[in-house]
Amino acid sequence: MAVVPDGERQHKKKTCMEDSRMQTAIQTQSRCPAVAIDRFIPRMLAHSGLGVWSHFLANVFTLLLLSPLVAHATLSIPVSEDDLAQYAAAIVVGQVKEIESYWDDNAKQVFTHITVTVQETLKGDVNAGEFTVKQLGGTIGHLHSWVVGSPEFTVGEKVLLFLDTNADGSAGVAHLYQGKLSVFIDRDTGNEVAYRGETPDGVQVLTNAKTAKAQTASTSSGFYEMTALTDRIREVLQTAPTEQRAFSAPFPLLQIPPGSTAEKQEGFVVVGIPPVRWFEPDSGIPVTMSLNPTNILPTGEEQIDAAFHAWNAARQSTFRFNKGPITDSIGFKADGVNAISFNDPSSQLPDPMNCSGVLAAAEYVTVSDESRTLHEQTFLRILEADLVFANGWENCTAFKSSANIAEVATHELGHVLGLNHSPNPDATMFRLAHFDGRGAALHPDDEKGVAFLYPDASFPPCTYGISPSKRTLAGGATSGKITVSTRDGCGWTAGSTVPWISISEGSGSSGTGTVVYAVEANSAKTARRGSIVVAGKTFAVTQKGASSRSGIPRFFAR
Ligand SMILES: [Zn+2]
Repeated sequence: MAVVPDGERQHKKKTCMEDSRMQTAIQTQSRCPAVAIDRFIPRMLAHSGLGVWSHFLANVFTLLLLSPLVAHATLSIPVSEDDLAQYAAAIVVGQVKEIESYWDDNAKQVFTHITVTVQETLKGDVNAGEFTVKQLGGTIGHLHSWVVGSPEFTVGEKVLLFLDTNADGSAGVAHLYQGKLSVFIDRDTGNEVAYRGETPDGVQVLTNAKTAKAQTASTSSGFYEMTALTDRIREVLQTAPTEQRAFSAPFPLLQIPPGSTAEKQEGFVVVGIPPVRWFEPDSGIPVTMSLNPTNILPTGEEQIDAAFHAWNAARQSTFRFNKGPITDSIGFKADGVNAISFNDPSSQLPDPMNCSGVLAAAEYVTVSDESRTLHEQTFLRILEADLVFANGWENCTAFKSSANIAEVATHELGHVLGLNHSPNPDATMFRLAHFDGRGAALHPDDEKGVAFLYPDASFPPCTYGISPSKRTLAGGATSGKITVSTRDGCGWTAGSTVPWISISEGSGSSGTGTVVYAVEANSAKTARRGSIVVAGKTFAVTQKGASSRSGIPRFFAR
């Protein structure tokens, strides 16, 4: 996805990243960069819901420790919290009760229904008790489709949602990931904390971690005091023009369309581990993308061509984009055509507010029953990808410049070929638009990423070592580290195979690095076994049964 910071004020990113803007608004300027990070790292958080939280907690820690690595895999101009509150059709606090994905054969899409039990309505007219959020993407059988930048959900999670109305009248999360916060209890204070974050998904692009340091200090944590946040929302709504205080239709419970194949899921999350790639380049076949010329931006075709060329010219990479014939395939559609559309023809992306929001987004479709081993790791196959430019930017400067269009196209095509965001703020695959006139240019970091995924003969295969390779633990909650050794430019991912082990840091990186994991207390009397797969290698964990001692603080306990 492509995002522009609030009101195109990208310069703010050096001092105060997008998630911090609410903190500036509702708290004090000094809270913005680092204070909240210091405050939360040593603490134990307990969730306020009843569901599976280890996955989510892993993200919390990833964000805290590696903020720039946690990417919403999308290029956008972050929307201000006040704007979100003002323009949202409804704002609700609730708990995720059920998640169900289905294939809609008419739309040629996987959709996911997330049923939320309402606990508090801050704005709008939602169905009392329960309502359904409908999001594009999800998993059905072997098929996984995902709009990069979508909000993620887990059953049992407590959430604060800014809702928007989908084109079909159903409720959707406003501004993709930006409209969803998770709600926790800070165990030390007993207060609720709202957190906005994303799963670090897929192959994190390959950057020397050292370059991320400058960013870490200046990046906000993404945490909000829940009371302050809801107070601020109410305040904004009180002073908002009447028509913005509530303009939603009631959001009801939705039914899965009759005849659709449906599957209940524990989560609506991106598949990122194992990582994904196209298999065509392995046989010297390019990936063909076709332009839908309807409402194309001025010079749009030239900028897309330039973006194709930039990726095709990357050193040590066999990946090639091929420009296909013009297509009438539109928007995000799993129809076998890799299409590029302008002006969001199927109304699948949020419109900008005050010249901030999503500029463009990529969706890809992967299958879990086709995999290949590369660099000692398993990669799933990308079958199809579509790229959609948002509409509603006519009166903003973002797309007035050809160089900006080219930068957005280059960034999105990077997602199309399988790259995630780079932690390197200078990389074109960084999560925020630069709009510095770079146009269709790759940073060396971007080139390393594509060369790793599609190595030519001059790119030596990556090899990995992990240390230690196993650990036996007592029954209490604990944490630990795994060291990954490899050379610079070699990417890897880490993922837990069980819900009671979560990755706190280093779920994806490149070069030599560290994976930090957290293990929940074992409340059973018997030992249990789980593992973390790191860089294709297995780190085995044996955890003994519950200790008879009580009162031990349980790290990440449920
Ligand atoms: Zn992106």
